[in-house]
Amino acid sequence: MIVLGLETTCDETAAAVVERDDDGRGRILSNVVFSQIDEHAAFGGVVPEIAARAHVEILDGLIAQAMREAGRHFAELDAVAAAAGPGLIGGLIVGLTTAKAIALVHETPLIAVNHLEAHALTARLTNDLPFPYCLFLASGGHTQIVAVLGVGDYVRLGTTRDDAIGEAFDKTAKTLGLDYPGGPAVERAARQGDPARFALPRPMVGRPDADFSLSGLKTAVRLEAERQAPLSDQDVADLCASFQAAVADMVRDRLRAGLKLFHERFGQPMALVAAGGVASNQVIRALLNASALDGGTVLVLPKPELCTDNGAMIAWAGAERLAYGLTDTLDAAPRPRWPLDSVRKPIEPSVG
Ligand code: ATP
Ligand code: MG
Ligand code: FE
Repeated sequence: MIVLGLETTCDETAAAVVERDDDGRGRILSNVVFSQIDEHAAFGGVVPEIAARAHVEILDGLIAQAMREAGRHFAELDAVAAAAGPGLIGGLIVGLTTAKAIALVHETPLIAVNHLEAHALTARLTNDLPFPYCLFLASGGHTQIVAVLGVGDYVRLGTTRDDAIGEAFDKTAKTLGLDYPGGPAVERAARQGDPARFALPRPMVGRPDADFSLSGLKTAVRLEAERQAPLSDQDVADLCASFQAAVADMVRDRLRAGLKLFHERFGQPMALVAAGGVASNQVIRALLNASALDGGTVLVLPKPELCTDNGAMIAWAGAERLAYGLTDTLDAAPRPRWPLDSVRKPIEPSVG
């Protein structure tokens, strides 16, 4: 089956065409992403109104490009999928309405995809990966450890109680006068820094649950920056390195707790899978590898361009749902808040 996928939940506008064969193997026919970073950089973060307008201006052209690069006509689509949430309401309306128009005109099924479900299933697009597996999702808006048991079947084992990890990187960058988005900037600066110079807190470490908390760490960075002001380049590098080391320690500990919870409830996971922009951080990637090995499981790390927001993951989640006949009606509503564990499940139990 061939599915067109649209992504407009935040500050990426994206369209992609993917194919899923009868054995469940995936192939990306096209994957076009326009990142609005330049539009938002001056504000140090995503401005919802600017994002919504940019989606409107760009999306049609991206869809045409995705179809052209895939070498397919609309008539050949088996479905059109759009991310219907969670995300910023303006962008959701743009993507979902566009998908509905295509569904209506070309008489093809609509699939309203949960953006988090798309992150959760992406690894199966490029890997032969059976259920169940343990997902670590760390992006600008989310930080979760999820048991992925089947299509539509997710159990959240841990989540952040305040900021997401990516958001903490972004805010730390802002505090220290580095560029937006902060993740890559902090990682770069940290390479020249001493991770042991500042003793920053490691919130949540040692707890039996698998939750995260970033706000105390973020505040500690700000207070330390104020204490050291004016900041030299070395101070900034040392603060970045110390912050990143604290995050890494927390992630290591939280993953250990999360994998333990997984094991107790669902047995041995087939893999530890990472997704989200934070998973492109080299220090985090190294510890993910070690954490997986520790738990006696393999690490599956999709390519960075499939970890961050993209259309292929939406198209793929659409294809996985279509395989179970899980389509939506044209009155499907955008859902700014849409917890992963509340998506509709297939009636048939899922198979690997
Ligand atoms: P969501 O997927 O939750 O809707 P999002 O679209 O903002 O949010 P992504 O595009 O997956 O998330 O990732 C962007 C986030 O990842 C930003 O917060 C960014 O700072 C962070 N990030 C990107 N690269 C790195 C890196 N090398 N190290 C740490 N964080 C990073
Ligand atoms: Mg983004
Ligand atoms: Fe995302």
